[in-house]
Amino acid sequence: IWALNNPMRMAGWLINDVQRFIASAEKIEDLLRVEPCIKNLPNSKKIDELKGVVEFNSVGFSYGDEKVLKNISFRAKPGETVGIIGPTGAGKSTLINLLSRFYDTDTGEVRVDGINVKQWEIQKLRSNMATVMQDIFLFSDTIEGNIAYGVPDATVEEVIDAAKKAEAHEFILEMPEQYDTIVGERGVGLSGGQRQRIALARALLKDPSILILDDTTSSVDMETELKIQKTLKSILMEKTCFIIAHRISSVKEADLILVMEDGKIIEQGTHSELLAKKGYYHHVYQNQFGNFENQHSQEGVS
Ligand code: ADP
Repeated sequence: IWALNNPMRMAGWLINDVQRFIASAEKIEDLLRVEPCIKNLPNSKKIDELKGVVEFNSVGFSYGDEKVLKNISFRAKPGETVGIIGPTGAGKSTLINLLSRFYDTDTGEVRVDGINVKQWEIQKLRSNMATVMQDIFLFSDTIEGNIAYGVPDATVEEVIDAAKKAEAHEFILEMPEQYDTIVGERGVGLSGGQRQRIALARALLKDPSILILDDTTSSVDMETELKIQKTLKSILMEKTCFIIAHRISSVKEADLILVMEDGKIIEQGTHSELLAKKGYYHHVYQNQFGNFENQHSQEGVS
């Protein structure tokens, strides 16, 4: 009932549900073209290629009455990876929603290449970003078609190259029709980890300036995750990458790790800086990553 009394908030919930459900940045883009709150300003910036410098300056945001982000500030340059870690509900996805301008800030500003995102033409801003979401949506189409979605003029070689970088090539070759295998609702079922790798290949093929991975490797095993991280390293040299993760192993190598709790950045720094603080990050590390490292050093893997 409260939602009915509060149509803006209800619209917010609906959009969020749709976002989680469809889990395809391009689809969301289409949907949000009809979203009335987020509009291009007159004379919005239409530069084709963004460099990917991202700044949050004292950003505050709420969907309704409750403050979801409080005084968020950080800066990232092309070639840098920002890891975002923290419990469910901390505001990690919301931060990304503001960067992609699915919502506008209440206070402070989000800048890309030194320009407030409100001044960028939304389509230009988003065409330079690729987001890989937690729940991946595959179309009833071939694997090739799924990877090439959004980049219709991609060559087969480019699709295969993207799949290799996403550690998807090998399992695709084991499929009945390889890249021509139909997947999605009416096709061959793929595991969560395989779907995530197809989605990652789709994002890499788009070759965005800003790559956002929202718990993208949560369903792949740690060995595969390490392989993906290795190949991603060279790809990410010129990109600004955001990795939202639950596992410390996913953000350990990041240039900047934001530890979020209750809408705030409670700690920020590199892996070693955060460990030295012996705060929240250190605590989580001991709980999850410590065990993994011990296991592997016992097995002789360094
Ligand atoms: P995280 O990604 O860290 O799990 P979120 O950014 O998804 O956190 O959520 C932060 C807070 O905002 C939570 O309390 C969540 O319930 C709330 N929230 C998220 N999306 C919406 C929305 N569309 N409308 C209202 N509240 C939302």
